[in-house]
Order: sequence, then structure tokens, then C-alpha cells
Amino acid sequence: MALNLDARQRAMLEEMRVRVWWPQPAAQPQPAAVPVQGSNQAPADPPPAPVLRVAEPPPPPRVPIAVPVAVVVPEPAPAPAPVPAAAVAPDGRADAIAAMDWPALQHAVAGCQACKLCGTRRNTVFGVGPAAADPATPPHVDWLVVGEAPGEQEDLRGEPFVGPAGKLLDNMLRAVGVSRHGEAGAPQRAAFIVNVLKCRPPGNRNPALEEIAQCEPFLKRQIALLRPRIILAVGRFAVQSLLAGSVPNVHATPLGRLRGKVYRYEGVPVVVSYHPAYLLRSLPEKAKAWADLCLALETLQAQ
Ligand code: SF4
Repeated sequence: MALNLDARQRAMLEEMRVRVWWPQPAAQPQPAAVPVQGSNQAPADPPPAPVLRVAEPPPPPRVPIAVPVAVVVPEPAPAPAPVPAAAVAPDGRADAIAAMDWPALQHAVAGCQACKLCGTRRNTVFGVGPAAADPATPPHVDWLVVGEAPGEQEDLRGEPFVGPAGKLLDNMLRAVGVSRHGEAGAPQRAAFIVNVLKCRPPGNRNPALEEIAQCEPFLKRQIALLRPRIILAVGRFAVQSLLAGSVPNVHATPLGRLRGKVYRYEGVPVVVSYHPAYLLRSLPEKAKAWADLCLALETLQAQ
């Protein structure tokens, strides 16, 4: 399937410093290299980034960028999922969350004290997306982006993916015509953005298994109510949470080896990619993230 991007989307790719290969006449010389530029996430005022070169493949006949072939991994037969015991604790909590409507779910997250992160958070981070026509129902979106956990800025603002990583994610989505605020009546142009954890781990440490287990019922219910048509899972913990029930040894599998395929979570196609914060530190991976985004778009358009 050809991926047709308009001038605005191409401009956004330029802003991401990701240059894609467009079909050229046969007489055109082969591409040499793609300059990819980025910044280190940690310093507030990073030094000039080095220019790295990533070899590009020769131009394909129709598709403007080499995109991994979509391999749909069928949902596995029912089997015990490697989910920590806390996620299925017999206290009825997960069942209660699974029965909540959208307002009840928002209220439950805002007041949640199921794990110790409630003691250090400033705000819960439920997620962000376009305004719903009816506040009692979730917004209508085709895209769902699942990240890992709120950072300092997200904790302060109560919104996921703000700051440099959020700006990069917004630019990537905009390159395929999608935004977190969307457009009225155009779900295909709207994304809802969430994290696996709704509260910030202190010091931006990695989420603990127990914290993920306690928070997962919220994510599962968000997906059930939003009913997105494609999920983009960014970062190790998001990928592990969504694929734990379908990919053996997912916790021991490097994220790079999980890319390039289409998985399923509760029947929704899932595409794996790098976390934008990682992309800010690892410049050559931006081109791979763009390929992941193209795979997600292709998967969505093929439905
Ligand atoms: S991280 Fe999730 S489970 Fe833990 S307190 Fe926050 S909302 Fe509750």
C-alpha cells in the first residue's frame, strides 16, 4: 500500500529530522545517507548534536519508505498469562474496574491508592485526547498511544507526554496526520495518549512489577472503552504490559526484536516502537521509529 503524505506531513518529517526516501526516476543517483539529528534528553540546554548518518535502502517502487512487512500474530489460545498475582488478586478490584464507565474510571484513577505511588504523586495522569461529544462517553479515536509512566512534568501537569519527548511524539503523529486533540468528527485523525502507570515513580525510576500489576486494570478498561483501531506501544514497559499474554518471554526479549510485527491486545492490533525519550538520546533509532509509525498507519488503513 502506498503511503501518501502531503506537503504538511513532509514538513513535519523534516522537523523530526527524519528524511524518508521518495520514489525517484531511474536515472537519479542512489541515496547516500540520511542525516539524523537529535538532542540529549537530560541537559536543559544540550550541546550541538553530532550529525549521524544512517544508510538508506534503495527506493522501493511505490512505497516512499521501506516499511516492515506486517505480520499479524494471531491471538494465542487461552493460556495462563505471565501476569503478577496482584493483577488477579481475589479482592474484586479488577472486576470492579472492568465494569466502570468512562466517568467512573476517571474518578477511580483520580482517587486511586492501590499502590505506594499514590503517596508521592502530585497528580494522577489519566490520559489525554480529543474532547468527547458527550462527557459521559470516551472520545472517538482510531489511535491509542501507550507509554510507560509519567515523568516530572507529566506529574506536575497531569498530562502524559509533555516536554521534549512529548513534542517529538506530537511531531511524529502529526507527520501521519494525527494529533492528541484531533478534529471533530474525524477519529482517524485523533489519538488518545496514556501510560501504563497513572502515577509518577519517584525520580523517574522504572515501574515496579507490583505497581504495573495494580494499575493495569485501568489501562485494560481504557482500551475496552476507547476501542481504538490501532495501538502504538512505545517503550519497554508498555510493550511488556500489552504483549505479556501473547508473546512468550516478552520480558526477556529486547524491544528491537519485537519491532516490525503486528500483535494483538484484546483484538486490537498493536505495533511496537521506541519511547520518544529514548529517541532523543539515540539518534539513529528515529528512522526506525518512523518505520514503526508507517507500519501502524498501514495496518490501520488495511482494516
Ligand atoms: S500508579 Fe496506578 S495503581 Fe498505583 S496509585 Fe497510581 S493509579 Fe493507583
